[in-house]
Amino acid sequence: MKKYFAPGRVNLIGEHLDYNGGTVLPVAIHLGVTATVQPLQENVIVLSSATHSFSKRIDLSDEIHFDKANDWANYPLGIIAQLKKENHSLRPCEIIFESNLPEASGLSSSAAVEVVTAFALLAQTEKQINLSWLALFCKQVENDFIGVKCGIMDQYAVALGKRNNALLIDCDKVNHRYIPFETGEYRLLVMNTKKPRSLIHSKYNERKQECEEALKIMRTTKSEIENLCQADMLWLNVLSNEVLKRRARHVISEQLRVNEAVKVLQHNDLSTFGRLMNASHTSLKNDYEVSGVELDTLVESAQQINGCLGARMTGAGFGGCAIAIAHAASVEELVNKVSEKYFSVTGLHCEVYECKVSDGVRAR
Ligand code: ADP
Ligand code: MG
Repeated sequence: MKKYFAPGRVNLIGEHLDYNGGTVLPVAIHLGVTATVQPLQENVIVLSSATHSFSKRIDLSDEIHFDKANDWANYPLGIIAQLKKENHSLRPCEIIFESNLPEASGLSSSAAVEVVTAFALLAQTEKQINLSWLALFCKQVENDFIGVKCGIMDQYAVALGKRNNALLIDCDKVNHRYIPFETGEYRLLVMNTKKPRSLIHSKYNERKQECEEALKIMRTTKSEIENLCQADMLWLNVLSNEVLKRRARHVISEQLRVNEAVKVLQHNDLSTFGRLMNASHTSLKNDYEVSGVELDTLVESAQQINGCLGARMTGAGFGGCAIAIAHAASVEELVNKVSEKYFSVTGLHCEVYECKVSDGVRAR
């Protein structure tokens, strides 16, 4: 019996930049998905999960297709199908998934399931697993088999995360480097709205289209730019449509904030980083309009706590999670005040997790 673990992730800054060719700055967290692998005699793979009653048994000689009826098992099935297609040898086994990572909350539990499945299956037969390759492989499965058009951030962070480091990913050139992220006396808090992300798909596509439109207009006078993240703030005036102008202003200013964040984190300047987080939230709320009363309440009530350096929504928005950086001595007050305020405004109970910045996928 062998055990493997893949973490969830949060993006520290650089929101909605992946599909605009910009850079993002996620960290892997200590919460994640564990896969326990038990060899079997028959030529099958059996998939089960402690958090779902549905389980699935597949014959390794059968063809595998996406089927809604396979529910959550589509994620590991997509990985198995693609490994087979690319002629990796697969050993018959049972895989049991266990998790302490909230699902469907924007912390990339889907990527954690994909990455841990691919890593666990390959580890049975292969000595070396190239983690950048693994991330792209899993991203392709989520795009093609599951049908979610995500960028590379999730699988990259889950596969390549590193303890006490953030991962600066260039989504245009598809490369990465590590940026030190040591919180010292401060804590990284993840605040879960626990609100179903119902608007997420339609609004995500709408924002993508608006950015494409803004880029197209800008390129009529600035043909040298290939993506919106390369644009200059001064060029916003070529956009006469107020909505497009605000969308582009978020993208361009957010890229500048990521650049600044990378600089200040090299000096471990968490106070300036916190201010960049606050500015990022304001931009996502007012210019990009992907926040909402739930995320705003978490973020704005956290920002009011003494000892909180900064807070912002993270992920695509419209629910999901927000993050804050707060002094260890302020965490209890923050959790109490934010939870109380959140319940009084929304009638919902939020959850707050104190997260350690952790390594990516690994054997346990
Ligand atoms: P996110 O990736 O933000 O958590 P998604 O909607 O992309 O949200 O993925 C969530 C889905 O991933 C769940 O609905 C479930 O199908 C699958 N999943 C996540 N964690 C597990 C788990 N521990 N066991 C089985 N399926 C899981
Ligand atoms: Mg996901």
